Amino acid sequence: MNVKNVLRKSIAIALLLTILIVPALSPANHAHAYNVDFSWRPNHLDVGFGISAGVITKFGSTFANCITTWNNNTKLEVWTTSSPWITDTMVYYSSSRTGNYGVAHDGGASITLYADMDDLTTTQKRETLVHEAGHCLGMDHTQPSNNNIAVMREIGFNNKAYPLSDDIAGINFLYLFVN
Ligand SMILES: [Zn+2]
Repeated sequence: MNVKNVLRKSIAIALLLTILIVPALSPANHAHAYNVDFSWRPNHLDVGFGISAGVITKFGSTFANCITTWNNNTKLEVWTTSSPWITDTMVYYSSSRTGNYGVAHDGGASITLYADMDDLTTTQKRETLVHEAGHCLGMDHTQPSNNNIAVMREIGFNNKAYPLSDDIAGINFLYLFVN
């Protein structure tokens, strides 16, 4: 076998793989919009979020209640408390500006909200927290074409501080077999 034949065979195999793999991947990527992250899923339904004193001081005592909108139309039983030691996720406030409004860390163990949130409306601040809580519940960013049906859009706001249809579909898939 000379080199040309080997090359030709490699190209043929590459083409065959492309033909086989592309259709196999495409329906999986586009059959639904949401993306889930099983490694961040708490794997139980009663998920507690501890609200730090810094968040309450900055945003008020009822601000973080928006996290419980993840219970809407899902079987989750999300709750919030100011007792930090018994929760799945802690929510902190940092007076630093970082270029991010909020970040979810460490597989969902904590959320930090930043002073960049000063630039947002009240609804957008809540939408940011609902979004970060969504990461801690196992939701990744949705695909951009579905931004208007997802609080888990990567960029921008819907000005609705609760999960939308794509988010709810993702949670219902993610927790389908969790009791
Ligand atoms: Zn995000």
